[in-house]
Amino acid sequence: MYQDTYKVLKNYFGFTQFRQGQEEIISALLGGKDVLAVMPTGAGKSLCYQVPAIMLEGLTVVISPLISLMKDQVNALTDMDIAGAYLNSSLTADEYKAAITRAGRGAYKILYIAPERLKRDDIRYLSNQIGIAMVVIDEAHCVSQWGHDFRPSYLLITEFIQSLPKRPIIAAFTATATGKIQDDIIHILKLEEPYLLTTGFNRENLYFEVQKPENKFQTLLDYLRNHQDKSGIIYCATRKTVEELCQTLNDRGYGATRYHAGLEDQERRENQDHFIYDRKPLMVATNAFGMGIDKSNVSFVIHYNMPKNIESYYQEAGRAGRDGSRADCILLYSPQDVQINKYLITNLQNDEIPKDETLIQHNLELLKAMTYYATTNECLRSQILAYFGEVAPHFCGNCSNCNTLFEPTDITIPAQKIVSCIYRIEQRGKRFGKLMVIDILRGSKNKKILNLGLNTLSTYSIMADTDPHRLRTIIDYLVENRYLGLEGNEYPVLCPGPRSKEIIFDKKSLSMMLPKEIKPSRLSTPAADKEPSFDKELFAKLKELRNRLAQKARQPGYIIFTDASLHDMCLKKPRTLDQFHSVSGVGLVKMSKYGELFTKLIREYKDKQQDPM
Ligand code: ADP
Ligand code: MG
Repeated sequence: MYQDTYKVLKNYFGFTQFRQGQEEIISALLGGKDVLAVMPTGAGKSLCYQVPAIMLEGLTVVISPLISLMKDQVNALTDMDIAGAYLNSSLTADEYKAAITRAGRGAYKILYIAPERLKRDDIRYLSNQIGIAMVVIDEAHCVSQWGHDFRPSYLLITEFIQSLPKRPIIAAFTATATGKIQDDIIHILKLEEPYLLTTGFNRENLYFEVQKPENKFQTLLDYLRNHQDKSGIIYCATRKTVEELCQTLNDRGYGATRYHAGLEDQERRENQDHFIYDRKPLMVATNAFGMGIDKSNVSFVIHYNMPKNIESYYQEAGRAGRDGSRADCILLYSPQDVQINKYLITNLQNDEIPKDETLIQHNLELLKAMTYYATTNECLRSQILAYFGEVAPHFCGNCSNCNTLFEPTDITIPAQKIVSCIYRIEQRGKRFGKLMVIDILRGSKNKKILNLGLNTLSTYSIMADTDPHRLRTIIDYLVENRYLGLEGNEYPVLCPGPRSKEIIFDKKSLSMMLPKEIKPSRLSTPAADKEPSFDKELFAKLKELRNRLAQKARQPGYIIFTDASLHDMCLKKPRTLDQFHSVSGVGLVKMSKYGELFTKLIREYKDKQQDPM
């Protein structure tokens, strides 16, 4: 019926296929139906209303909570020759007036408006003057108190819609909404028999990991060292942690910037831009940062502290990998995080939201679910999906629990090695604590070992390949089952246990539940290792060209082409404009604007390769 949607998709956006859910939503909207769509971050919600906005007669108004998002979206639209503008507090009085006058003349197809503006007379006047075909509510969960991001100004939307001379089509979009919140959205916004679409919440390209490190900072540094050229967000619970962490990272030479609600508006804007424009690859922030941030190449989100519920966590973590590339979502958990969150939930109120016992209880329940996620042995992805009411397989194979789940493991040989090491140490008239024994078994060259000549023990270094945590787990098991003894209170030392002879003389076979032998942790494997191989040199050149163009246009790079588009260029290596048009993300406008430059670069690059001097 709507053959033309594919034309619009290719000619403006440069894509040949709709993603899951997009086509259904677009035809519902074009057919005049209200829509409520719950689709995960990065699924492509904007396109669901931008395509109909282009095709519908009249103006589409988009209500969106974040100023930075509007600017980005409008820039991206303008770069595709779609007439759009925004009305929010970042405009000067003159700019604002100019935009509203042009809107009144029907110059735009899409107009983004901040919710608190809806009560202004000039907007009321405008909406009576021209036909509004559709009102889109982005981040629609903001209307609900039960959501994690309630915004009272969102309650102005309903009244605004009711004041319009003709009821427009209403489309609500959000990434995170449980059933309860979906009901709220439908009732508060008064959607009429909406077309309801919930694509799965799953994001296959995201890897989930929970770490319980003794030293969070060290763990973070290890990760960053292995991901030097990547861009990522580090979320912290408090402003103070943000300040300290950002400072320390900068002291160590990392390009980090910071964001929290205590900073001046101007600094926040600048820092956000540093991050978005890739001048600073790392953003250290509280949860004040990020809603609507559309940076496509965030390749990891690390939570330095546990957030207060799974919705927040998934929304924040979901800012990774928006362009579909593999990305890491890592939570650094400590039990203290639970205490801090409990305190925040029970003691702090927002000025706008009065203290409410039911709400507090509700939030404590959500915190419990989050804590369970952080401490469970089950598949992490399945936990998240189950929280949103989805039935998911128990094993995803792409989270830290699946990769390290327990399995029955034969420990007969390791047990013999450990117990005989304890015997050898006894023979020298000595006893040591667990850590020292582990060092001996793994062949450490620490001073104490060398000074005491323990490196001459026949059992020195016989378990050099065994991970120290794993070794410790086995030792604990042997102590628990009295194959080994533990003596002394303050500095307990290992000694043979009442049953140690069963191991040494009877060669008793033993088995215990152990995590599957760990392949080197993802924390030390750069995500890039798993990406399909492509021409890195060409990619770097294309990126440089894109960034140069972006700088000239004072735009973030991804407004011109996303990294995903550059990847596709590396694969397709287009030499002609026609071939260039087949690259994902290249529409007619981008082809004529940039095609010449990019194909020239690719032609020269390929010719040089074929003719190495
Ligand atoms: P969200 O659902 O989080 O609002 P966006 O609308 O910002 O997601 O889209 C995320 C990314 O997906 C953008 O870079 C966008 O260009 C891309 N995208 C959207 N639809 C398609 C499609 N049909 N084919 C390829 N890429 C798409
Ligand atoms: Mg969006």
